[in-house]
This record gives sequence, structure tokens and C-alpha cells, in this order.
Amino acid sequence: MQGTMKAAIQRKAGTPLKIEKLPIPQAGPGEILIKVTACGVCHSDLHAVDGDWNPGPTLPLIPGHEVAGHVAAIGAGVKGFRLGDAVGVPWMYSACGQCEFCQAGMETICKSGEASGYTKPGGYAEFMVADAKFVAKLPKTANLYEIAPILCAGVTTYRGLKRTKVRPGKWMTIFGIGGLGHIAVQYAVAMGMRVIAVDVDDVKLKLAKKLGAEMVVNAKKVDPVAEIQAKIGGSHGAVVTAVAPQAFEQAIGVLRPAGTVAYIGLPGGKSDQIRTSISQITNWELTVTGSNVGTRLDLNEAVAFALNGLVKAKIQKAPLTQINKIFNDMRRGKIVGRMVLDIA
Ligand code: NAD
Ligand code: ZN
Ligand code: ZN
Repeated sequence: MQGTMKAAIQRKAGTPLKIEKLPIPQAGPGEILIKVTACGVCHSDLHAVDGDWNPGPTLPLIPGHEVAGHVAAIGAGVKGFRLGDAVGVPWMYSACGQCEFCQAGMETICKSGEASGYTKPGGYAEFMVADAKFVAKLPKTANLYEIAPILCAGVTTYRGLKRTKVRPGKWMTIFGIGGLGHIAVQYAVAMGMRVIAVDVDDVKLKLAKKLGAEMVVNAKKVDPVAEIQAKIGGSHGAVVTAVAPQAFEQAIGVLRPAGTVAYIGLPGGKSDQIRTSISQITNWELTVTGSNVGTRLDLNEAVAFALNGLVKAKIQKAPLTQINKIFNDMRRGKIVGRMVLDIA
């Protein structure tokens, strides 16, 4: 396709995004071009722009990995897509398909994987290119604004919950009730778990209650470890989507013997360190695991929950020109639910 598009782009690390006119990218072999309708703003995009992680993003950077839109062009060799099909693009742009991890169905830890909006241009743009093998197919009737956050916040928290192996009827503590966490509460409830929500902001805890959390703890006022151990004898599982290291320490502390915590948040930089009790992990046979986005199977399952109405992101739409203001609000923890860029 010929012509130009608007995109939010960072050319130099540590600088704000700028809206620029760029040529529309071309779909190469195995790729599709997508006309973007909506793109959620994930805290990972802010980490990318702020340079919180090592290695940093490929520059120039166009962030965005909660992308929903329509197929606008189809590259050579791509099968199974038609122009106008609704699709979603997640963080996992691609994986090699050949390494021991890909062969074992663990493509989320493929060392040759590419990331949308980090190593490849993402969805803060009117058009983006994606690897056809890794996009989610969406029905024509899907609300693309509501489905966008499922492409990262949804699939990531769904996989994190699965990795704890917590069964229906058991307690799940969710640290951080932001974009990811408010969706995690809903998956956990839909999966039959009993939910405890922990955040440092009462507005977010109120939302968690509304979404089905049985117990809420404001970690600014009450120690979640003492509270959860005293009230229920510890949680069977925990997931951490918070952006503060204390939450990762407390998430080990709230577990009951044989419990599992899945780390999802990635505070980065100086906040990338924790201190914990070795004897608690040893004596109580605890499991601490990481969880990195999701496989294509996780993605399709996570999207099905949303399409069936079991999980619904609380969204607020904003134009692409607002992106630096949205990032400022996110740095201050002021966003309730998920901001979604209205790009169509
Ligand atoms: P967000 O800013 O929307 O939410 C973060 C939440 O953490 C906020 O509600 C905030 O109030 C809360 N919080 C801050 N300090 C806290 C504390 N001490 N205790 C409890 N809660 C606290 O961010 P998001 O988009 O939900 O992303 C969260 C994190 O997850 C980011 O670090 C992001 O990069 C990471 N992430 C990881 C993956 C992955 O695959 N592992 C995928 C997506 C996002
Ligand atoms: Zn994300
Ligand atoms: Zn691989």
C-alpha cells in the first residue's frame, strides 16, 4: 500500500514520543499489514520509552502491543487471511519455532523471539506489519477497543494465573490492580478462584471489589502478609502485576505452605531487586515462577474468555496525540483500568 501514516515515535532514548508522518510499511513474505483501530497503553510501553529495561528497545521505536485492527495487505506466502479480517497483535511478534523451548510449547521464552513495539514497530500508528503466524484472529463482531487490552493484559495475566496451578475454590492474591491487575481479577473469578486484591490505591481496590474480589488490602495502610496469614492462613497462589519491589517480596510472604507465586510485573532499573526469606521458601516448599506474556494457545484461550463476556477491560479512549500525558498519568499511578488509543 502506498502513502503515509501518522505514528508516535521515539528516535532517541529518554525523549518523549513525537507524532510524525511516516511511509506506510510494506508486508513482506509471511507478514500482513494491519490498519490499526485501537491500541491499549501497557506499562511495558512506558518502561520501553523510559529505558527501564536492559537491553533497551530498537530505535527508532514505535511502541504498542495491544493492537486490534483489520488486514489491509497480505504478504507473499500468507494463507488463511482475507483483506478486512479483524485481527489482534500481541507482544510476542514472533518466535523461531525451532529451538528447544519452542519445541516444548514454551515459545514465550524463545531466545530468538521478536517483540511488537520493542524490537519491531508496534501499534501506536495508523498501520503496522505483523507476522501472520502470531496474530489472533477476531470475529467481525468483536469490539476492537474492548478487545485490545486482552492482547497483552489479558493473555499475560491468564497465563500467570495458569502457571500458579491454583485450582477452583482456592485463594488467589493479585498484587497491583492496574491495567493488568483489574483484568487478572476477572480471569481468576472466571476460573473459579477466590480473589484477594492488593494495591496502594483505594479507587483501584473498589474496582477490584466490583469485579468480584472477596477481600481487598491497601498495602499503604495494612501489611498484606500479616493480614492474609491471619485471616485465611495464607493464599494458595499469588500473581504480581505491581511495579514496586515490595509487592514481589510480600507476594512470597502471603503464600500458605506449598503455594506458588507468578511474577509478571517488570519494574526494571533500580527496582529490579528483592530480599526474601530462604527458610520460608525451603520449609514451606514454595514455588516462585516468572510468567512472560503468553503462547498462541494462551492468547486464543484468553480472547475466548473476553468474547464470551467473562472478562471485560474497563477502558477509556484517547487520541494518539495524548500519549505523553497518558504516560505521565501512568507514572503517577493515576490510571484506573486501561487507556486505549483510538487510532481509526
Ligand atoms: P499499571 O500502571 O496499569 O498498574 C500497576 C499497578 O500497580 C497500579 O494499580 C499501582 O497502583 C499498583 N502498585 C504500585 N505500587 C504497588 C505496591 N507497592 N503494591 C501493590 N500495588 C502497587 O501497569 P500495567 O500495565 O498493569 O503493568 C504492570 C507491570 O506488568 C509493568 O511492570 C509491566 O511492564 C508488566 N508487564 C509484564 C508482562 C509480562 O509478560 N511479564 C506483560 C505486560 C506487562
Ligand atoms: Zn503489555
Ligand atoms: Zn524458539
